[in-house]
Amino acid sequence: MRYILLIPDGSADKPIPELGGKTPLMALDLPGMAALAGGIAGKARTVPIGVAPGSDTAILTIFGHDVRSGYKGRAALEAAGAGVALKEGEAALRVNLCSITPDKRMKSHNGCGVEGGDALELVRALAGDEAFAQLSERAGFTIHPSPTFRQIGVLDNAGDEPFQLAEPHMILGQPIADHMPKGARAEELTALISLSYDILSRHPLNLARGDKAANCVWPWAAGRAMSLPGFADKYGHTGPVVTAVPLVKGIARLSGLPAPDVPGATGDIDTNYGGKLDALLDGFRGGADFGCLHVEAPDECAHARDVEAKTEAIRRFDARIVQPLLERMPAVDPSFRVLILSDHLTLLSNGAHDGDPAPFALYDSRKPGEPRPFNEDMARYGHYVADGTTLMDLLFERG
Ligand SMILES: [Zn+2]
Repeated sequence: MRYILLIPDGSADKPIPELGGKTPLMALDLPGMAALAGGIAGKARTVPIGVAPGSDTAILTIFGHDVRSGYKGRAALEAAGAGVALKEGEAALRVNLCSITPDKRMKSHNGCGVEGGDALELVRALAGDEAFAQLSERAGFTIHPSPTFRQIGVLDNAGDEPFQLAEPHMILGQPIADHMPKGARAEELTALISLSYDILSRHPLNLARGDKAANCVWPWAAGRAMSLPGFADKYGHTGPVVTAVPLVKGIARLSGLPAPDVPGATGDIDTNYGGKLDALLDGFRGGADFGCLHVEAPDECAHARDVEAKTEAIRRFDARIVQPLLERMPAVDPSFRVLILSDHLTLLSNGAHDGDPAPFALYDSRKPGEPRPFNEDMARYGHYVADGTTLMDLLFERG
């Protein structure tokens, strides 16, 4: 028996006028997800009431952790995912490469899609700039360059004072001066943001990118060092977590699960779907009995409030992940269960996460059932999982 967890991140939504009063999942014809919904289907509360909804709180909950105790913020998870081990007293920060307009407004939280060699070159140029290096040293700040818009920063002597850092995807179009850091280390972090804009705006690569310049670093989502109990100890199953994003890699690695790096897995709509599916199946061929496949694109497209892109990202998840998975699994192991769910809702209407219960389906190859649409409307009439930390028990047929 093999157990598969599929997470099309932020794919669930609320009905919008642009789609004739439907959500993207309701508007699309998704034969793969419909086959999965032939099993048990319904809604699950993946984010406990009173907890801020995000991929961190939702995916930790899905992996069986109670985020109301002992959770110290997403950047610690992201740092682990990027291979950065935090020392006692240090805090990790997510640092986005953003695009800022000439009149200093937040144009893009992901540097207008900057990635790969371009992202690396810009961050290395910034870290290597003499003025930025001196300011960083005085602030006890280190940036760990990565080939995406998602960088990891580490601050030493983080203390206990709370950080108050704006989420860049929530201030699109707004003057950044209204959203500069408050709370812990506010002055130094503000100075680093301002200096990064001056340095990066002049960089030849950004001059060539024109109005898509990734010209500012933006720290947010601070977190102090943390540990998680082992997944294999808790559930008796183990296998890879296939994902492009450091946050989910970090949850996997801190839980003792491998998180392979898949070439071309970017976290955006053009990610290497086939390579990610191969990595999942390779895990099973290598003896794993569990595997998770996470795709970030629907969430990112919803943050950008791009209806067409979010819809297309979900269509690709169905066509390039779910359908070929169902075709190829019987040759790997004819007995398998698949849990598919949106970790949380991400709303096209405002670009924000939403913690309402998210639709899920649980498929069993031994009793597949009749296909039916997988969407928020269907979920209203199905099972209700009030405690998301029990979802893995459901997948693993425990208790
Ligand atoms: Zn998410």
